[in-house]
Amino acid sequence: MTEEAKTRTTYCSHCQKDVDLTETEAAPRSGHAMLQESDEVVCLDFGDHCDGDVCPLSKLRPIVMGVRLARSGAKHDWKTVRAQCEGCGQVSDLNIIDKDHAYCTLCGTTNTWMVLEFEDDGKVVVAKRKEG
Ligand SMILES: [Zn+2]
Repeated sequence: MTEEAKTRTTYCSHCQKDVDLTETEAAPRSGHAMLQESDEVVCLDFGDHCDGDVCPLSKLRPIVMGVRLARSGAKHDWKTVRAQCEGCGQVSDLNIIDKDHAYCTLCGTTNTWMVLEFEDDGKVVVAKRKEG
């Protein structure tokens, strides 16, 4: 674990404001364990406003940035939802990345989630492993 996270500020053209970025070492890809991917950019300002098709900082869908942030363990004010993770089977508080996705901090699985509401019996959250 490196405690010294290097952060820098850059302008996000989607959020139209300066955001804080940090970098984490990319997860090694299976089959290429010896090759280190270049470091991943992680935006510390990821949030509800990241609703565009493409995050201008990662050139990827915003969900990818959300998962990176959750995986990085960087301090972030996550909203959580209590559900059973399909990855590890534990009932835990999943970090809500967007309205469809939540991240299990126990095993690192990204789940899709939805709330089932019952007329008289409150509601229950169902989580499902995200494919792809
Ligand atoms: Zn899990």
